[in-house]
Amino acid sequence: MGNQNSKSQQAAEQLLRDGRVALEWISKYLARAPELPVLSHVKPGDVFASLPSRAPSAPEPVETILKDLDDKILPGITHWQSPNFFAYFPGNSSPASVVGDLLSSGLGVQGMLWVTSPACTELEMRMLDWLVEMLDLPKHFLSTSSGGGVIQDSASSANLCAVLAGRERATQFGSNENGCDQRLTAYTSAQAHSSMEKAIKVAGIGRRNLRVIEVDEQFRMKPAALARAIQEDKAAGRVPCFVGATVGTTSTMSIDPLPEIGTICREHNVWLHVDAAMAGTAALCEELRSIHNGLELADSYCFDCHKWMFTNFDCTCFYVRDRKELTETLTITPEYLRNVASATGAVVDFRDWHIPLGRRFRALKLWLVIRSYGVEGLRAMVRRHIELTNQFVGWLRADSRFEIVAPVSLNLVCFRLKGPDSGSEVLMQKLNSSGKMFLSHTKLNGRFAIRMCIGQTYTEEEHIRAAWQEIQQHATEPAMAAG
Ligand code: PLP
Repeated sequence: MGNQNSKSQQAAEQLLRDGRVALEWISKYLARAPELPVLSHVKPGDVFASLPSRAPSAPEPVETILKDLDDKILPGITHWQSPNFFAYFPGNSSPASVVGDLLSSGLGVQGMLWVTSPACTELEMRMLDWLVEMLDLPKHFLSTSSGGGVIQDSASSANLCAVLAGRERATQFGSNENGCDQRLTAYTSAQAHSSMEKAIKVAGIGRRNLRVIEVDEQFRMKPAALARAIQEDKAAGRVPCFVGATVGTTSTMSIDPLPEIGTICREHNVWLHVDAAMAGTAALCEELRSIHNGLELADSYCFDCHKWMFTNFDCTCFYVRDRKELTETLTITPEYLRNVASATGAVVDFRDWHIPLGRRFRALKLWLVIRSYGVEGLRAMVRRHIELTNQFVGWLRADSRFEIVAPVSLNLVCFRLKGPDSGSEVLMQKLNSSGKMFLSHTKLNGRFAIRMCIGQTYTEEEHIRAAWQEIQQHATEPAMAAG
């Protein structure tokens, strides 16, 4: 016992010493992130080759390791925490979130069962309930209702769990027993995130049984096409089991019409899952809540706090209308996990709500973020990003060399240089190699489009002004002529 205490004491002292150095490192990093080239330009294999081929046999001090972090690792980092990061969707962090993650690491809790740390489960339940109110989500998502929420590692995992629950409900929980029923079919729009297709494959439904529903001119799923596909499948003896709708598609942030889609799903008793990975956070603001119109018809829903809610990856909030359907799909209880608390049925064991058994104490960082900013603070940041986006859109519209190629939704703008695709491709390449910003692209109606998402925690007006100047400067002469 005495020996253990002294090891704990040593660990406490080491953490204070090394932790201070590491925190200082992170703090300096964040301060200089705006000046660093956003996109890493190392060549494949550079970082790997710079690292010794064998692990050290003797202990090394943290200062030596951090020196290598600067020299060998940092050049291979693409700076997601730079205010000049406009690519994909953001992978945001914040000081509160870093502290929350640090506390979680310090506690080192594994919260697979309620009994393995009751606070890990119950803080998570409370946070997910807070979010129901903060985003004005349907009340059946509350833990005090028929459903509830859980933190998952990613929207991809949440989408998979939704597919599995839909599959099981449609087959009276028979696919888990007998293997996947080959009559099952699923539906998403052509603009849905690729994780939907992956989920359909992993769930054993098979890509060929995924109907990719066409979208309208604003890239939203066409409800009539969905209804037709379901009817045709049913007429052919198939079993429709899952519809994946999106609020805020990855390419354009388009929003599928949930009221119509939900009505169709109800009529045919098909599981409706709504993926709002990026856009969901916008519902913090009352004036943006219409993005969730019709959500009350959904069986499940997810959004990522690790995208736009200033919480370090990973933190996806996944909600279900009826928790029994999810837990019956995923539960399995070996003898070694049995315990009195679980047997009473009075506690929640989150291991039954997702694929892995083990789970980190992720609710802590959410707790820190929500309490440190306050709901009003979070709303203000989202509103600011949308204002900045509108400002940027105004500049684009005033420059006849450019065209906006999808309706501007929330904080995403899809634009291109008029003329052949090559002009926009070269422009984006130049901008990304300048190190001054990082943008990514998509293809819309077969044409190349640059995506600019203004949602990084630290982005301010000066950054979008500088970005716009840079974009204008690099807009190519030939492409201008072609326009
Ligand atoms: N769904 C949508 C709409 C997305 O945009 C993304 C990622 O950008 C995902 C799912 C996947 O997110 P995650 O990285 O959390 O799996």
